[in-house]
Amino acid sequence: MNYQIPQEGLSKEVVLERLKQMRHSDVDYNSGKVWSLVYPYSKEHLDFVKSAYNEYFSENALNPMAFKSLKQMENEVVRMTADLFHGGDFAVGNLSSGGTESLLLAVKTYRDRFRAKNNTIIKRFTNKSTDLPEMILPESAHIAFNKASHYFDVKIVYAPLDANKRVDVAAVEKLINKNTMLLVGSAPSYPFGTIDPIEELGQLAIKHKLPLHVDACVGGFILPFVEKNNRALPLWDFRVAGVTSISADIHKYGFAAKGASVILYRSMEYLRHQFFVSSEWQGGMFVSPALLGTRPGGAIAAAWATLMYMGQDNYTQTAEKIMQTTDKLTQGIAQIEGLSILGTPHASLFAYHSVSEAIDIYAVGDQMEKKGWHIDRQQKPACLHAMVSPIHSTTAQAYLNDLQQAVAHVKQHPELKSQGNAAMYGMMAKLPMRGMIQNELLNLMESMYSVEGKAPDLESGKKDFKTQLAAMLIKIKDSF
Ligand SMILES: *Cc1c(COP(=O)(O)O)cnc(C)c1O
Repeated sequence: MNYQIPQEGLSKEVVLERLKQMRHSDVDYNSGKVWSLVYPYSKEHLDFVKSAYNEYFSENALNPMAFKSLKQMENEVVRMTADLFHGGDFAVGNLSSGGTESLLLAVKTYRDRFRAKNNTIIKRFTNKSTDLPEMILPESAHIAFNKASHYFDVKIVYAPLDANKRVDVAAVEKLINKNTMLLVGSAPSYPFGTIDPIEELGQLAIKHKLPLHVDACVGGFILPFVEKNNRALPLWDFRVAGVTSISADIHKYGFAAKGASVILYRSMEYLRHQFFVSSEWQGGMFVSPALLGTRPGGAIAAAWATLMYMGQDNYTQTAEKIMQTTDKLTQGIAQIEGLSILGTPHASLFAYHSVSEAIDIYAVGDQMEKKGWHIDRQQKPACLHAMVSPIHSTTAQAYLNDLQQAVAHVKQHPELKSQGNAAMYGMMAKLPMRGMIQNELLNLMESMYSVEGKAPDLESGKKDFKTQLAAMLIKIKDSF
């Protein structure tokens, strides 16, 4: 593909117009029909966050000595977050670019701490996984931990969930061995919205002298306010003695600009293992707290400005509004015969599945997409997922009405089970050759990032990534 920077630049108007046009096949998150990826709050709020971002558009937090403003904002955001999580007098940490970076940092930090403590030289190139440090993850832990395992040579050991979709603590204890470097719990988990039993995990952590990371990436900026509304929640933050670190994304329920998450540790004893310092580089002395080099000042300014502007009162009221919408949805779904909510979700995200032979949940998802909803499908077990934002108070009833109709339609049309996405996901669940799927996913990435840079256009019309994937996997199945 021969595509060049234009010889002569286009006019501002033309360029901005093209940007607008390119959006036409994106999901429309302001419709209230999208249940992930974006956290719409209000136009007025968005305009404010944008102006805060723009105020520090060019500043670079790479060098905090040069931009003391950004260091001050980072400090204040960290302090405010530490206070929110009851670690105000002792917790230390930094801002990162998002939940994934916070989790990558946590895993790297605990790995380096484990190495330092055990003075072991990890045999990176021996393929002996028994030599690797291990982290015990609930099966529902976020996929970013797998990325961390992949990048940092840390072995994952999975602990099963109980019937309520919370990690089975007794199973976790059985998995602890001399290579264990970290225990993990989520508050709440992405797939099911349930908070793992953090107090029990904390006791285990203390008993076995292990650190415990709580992934509150999605929950960190809503759970404290749900609690302020006197809704009952299990403890999950620094009030639990064994918790040694917490990650929390300000760009989710904090309603800041994308590119802002906090990673907090109980003390410097942990955080020090995160830092990178070098005195040898030809470019001079170098110190860096996190993964990135250049760190966009806008994201930090927007995070600081959002916390200051929202205030605890507004967060608390917003949390209540979101939880009322969530209650309406989960209660409504539970009333639809044949559907059931998985576990007992604690916050504003949940999953539901089919408990009836006559209802294929993925076929229900397909019907919902036909009605214009953007539906997230999950596996193990087959279920549909939703994450609630303030905007959904306007569309929750329509969602329930459409869901009822979709279920009725699927019951009347059992053949839908073997069509479209439903067929693909159904097949995926049963397919013995997971390695083959893994390979196809890699091929897909190669094609998306190739010179042509396109996802294979297998289905016409507006389709999301998963639908494209679905079509592709069906083709693989057909070639068996
Ligand atoms: C969103 C999320 C992450 C990852 O955060 P990103 O900002 O998408 O990188 C990690 N853990 C949980 C529980 C999440 O919901």
